[in-house]
Formats: sequence, structure tokens, C-alpha cells
Amino acid sequence: MSHKKIHLCLAHMSGNEQRFIDEAFADNWVVPLGPNVDAFEDELKKYLTEGNPDAANKEIAAVSAGTAAIHLALVLLGVGKGDEVICQSFTFAASANPVTYQGAVPVFVDSESASWNMSPELLDHAIADRVAKTGRKPKAIIVVHLYGMPAMMDEICAVAAKWEIPVIEDAAEALGSVYKGKKCSTLGTYGILSFNGNKMITTSGGGALVCPDMESKKRCVFFSTQAREPFPYYQHEHIGFNYRMSNICAGIGRGQMTILEEHIAHHRKLAALYQELFAGSDNIMFHSDPTTDSQSNYWLNTILINTNKTGVTPEDIRLHLQSLNVETRPLWKPMHLQPVYANAPAYVNGVSELLFTQGLCLPSGPWVTPDDVKMIVSEIKKCVND
Ligand SMILES: *Cc1c(COP(=O)(O)O)cnc(C)c1O
Repeated sequence: MSHKKIHLCLAHMSGNEQRFIDEAFADNWVVPLGPNVDAFEDELKKYLTEGNPDAANKEIAAVSAGTAAIHLALVLLGVGKGDEVICQSFTFAASANPVTYQGAVPVFVDSESASWNMSPELLDHAIADRVAKTGRKPKAIIVVHLYGMPAMMDEICAVAAKWEIPVIEDAAEALGSVYKGKKCSTLGTYGILSFNGNKMITTSGGGALVCPDMESKKRCVFFSTQAREPFPYYQHEHIGFNYRMSNICAGIGRGQMTILEEHIAHHRKLAALYQELFAGSDNIMFHSDPTTDSQSNYWLNTILINTNKTGVTPEDIRLHLQSLNVETRPLWKPMHLQPVYANAPAYVNGVSELLFTQGLCLPSGPWVTPDDVKMIVSEIKKCVND
């Protein structure tokens, strides 16, 4: 092991974070509200909605995690005990778990093979089948832009509109990704973002709910600050949560906003290099934007390995790269294959299962250099005899 460890995606500071934190300390705003929270929300709003008149009414609520943002979206949409919520199966468990927190049942829908996200056809079929079986419509649809790759939102939203079901866009991995000229997280009824340590930017842990209007943002803030009614004493008429973002974390977020564009450009530059170096290979397929409608942020760069032809599995490659101090990871294990969701209804077509058995995530973050990418690609090619 001659060289430094190469990680999938590590946090990277701009140097401006400390200033915003120092200001918060100087003014004693060490609480879950304050000037950094307000400014971070404003900066996110500008970034996500500028130049998009369809998103002009959107408002951002900064919260303690992406998971909390999904939970709040479900609360605001009135999802409760016994309801069903459709969720993309090919995702991280945090997309689905808040459905369970609400006592509702996730219904998993498989992916299409172009973007790897929810299949619109299967979504339509799943809704029709749920209505036939239960007599009720699912209460919401959670679609994910996995690895930053935009889902087929026009088709998904058309199905959702036909059935009049709201869409929650899980853009935890897709800050900066663009679909038909619009930023991911602004395309659904609600959108969620994550600022966990491994995401496109970090607040050391945090998230945001992209709300359709000011009224829903106010409801979001109400529920994320313990649902206190406007009385001089504490009166509660709803069950609330302690989900607001702290003014310190928001200070980190403001610092990170100053290098967001730089981070995205770096991820895309590495993606272009991976794509170029894997081009023409029969054994490795690099996952890139399927059409010009989408511009992924390439949060994580991903490949599929032709295991049938080569006899080489993602695990073989993972272990080889691990021996060289390079971190890689299998693609997300679909929710319908997770033991904890064994009893949840699922509408599957084999796509996500195939992705799980043949795919691998490659180093992609701000600390990864073009030379690292060249070394990684050459080692993978050795594994598959390219
Ligand atoms: C990270 C992530 C989440 C959860 O975000 P946290 O901020 O970690 O709670 C949700 N969905 C997806 C797809 C994610 O990758």
C-alpha cells in the first residue's frame, strides 16, 4: 500500500465555515434558529430556484437531517397509520424508514434501466393494483435521484397527476443535478436535501425540506420545533418533532455554499474522465446521463460489470481496490430485498436486483484527483482483462 487512502466522498471545507461559526458564537446564537439558518435557507432558495419561474413560490426549511425532511414531508401530507406510500425500491433505507415512523406501509417500486430510478410504467401499474386490492390510493410517492442521476420526472409526475397523488423528491444525493433545465428537489410537491458528511456539501449533519410555498414552510417549521401553538404558555394540539437545524450547522452550510459549484464541477470532471477511460469497454459500463434532459451532479460515479462475460464480480474488484487503499462500495441493496422490509408489498422487474449484483460505486469526492481516477480505472481493467 504505497499511496494515500482514496475515499468514495469525503467532506471538504472551503475555509469560510469558521467565520460563520465564529459570528454565531460572538452573537450567542448557539441555538436551533438564528441568522445563519435564515441566510442558509435564502442561499439555498436562490440556488435552487433562480431562473425557474415554476419554482418561484418554493421555500426552504433547514432541518437536522435529510431523513427528518422526509419524515416532515409525510407529516405535512397527512400520512398516518395504515396508509400506503409508494417508494423507490432502489435506494438507501432513509428514503423509506420515515414511512414506517408514521405507522404507514411502504410499497416498493422497481427501477427503469436508463436512469436507474423509479420506473414510471411500474409506478402506474403499482398504483392501479393497490387501488384494486385495498380500495384506497397510496398517499404519496417517494422518488429518488440516486447517485445524483435525475429520475424520469416528467413521466413520474404525469402518473402522479393522473392519480392525484403528491410526489416527494428525495434529492439527498442530487444537490445541483438538473432535469430539463430545472434543479432536482424543485420538481415534486416536496423535495428533500441532505447535508450529511458524505454528501455534495455538508453541515456536519443536516437536511432541508423544499416546500411548495410559504404556508407549507411555516407548517414545516411548526412541526420541526415541537408544534408549539401561539400561547404564552406551551400548548400543544399536534405531536411535534425536534428537527430544526442549529445555527452552528447552518454556519457550516453557508461556508459550504461558497464552494458548492466547485464541488459539483469537480464531481462532473471526474465523471467525464471515468467515462472517457471506460469508453469502448464491453466489460465495464459507466453510468452516465441517459439523455441531454438530465445533468447529474455525479455525486458518486458508478459502473456495471459484465459479470456473465468476465466471471468477475463487483466484490472481486472491491477487494482488489481495497488492497490498494481505494474505497469502493456495492450499489444500494434494494429495499424489497431487505430483511426488515420482507413483508412490504413490492412491484419488481429485476432491474434493481441486477444493478445490485453487478454494480460498484467508485471514488468521486473533492479529494479524488484525475490521477487517482486513471489509476483506479487501470486497476479495474486489469481485473476484467480489458
Ligand atoms: C443520505 C440520504 C438520505 C438521508 O439523509 P440524512 O441527512 O443522512 O438523514 C435519504 N435518502 C438518500 C437517497 C440518501 O442518500
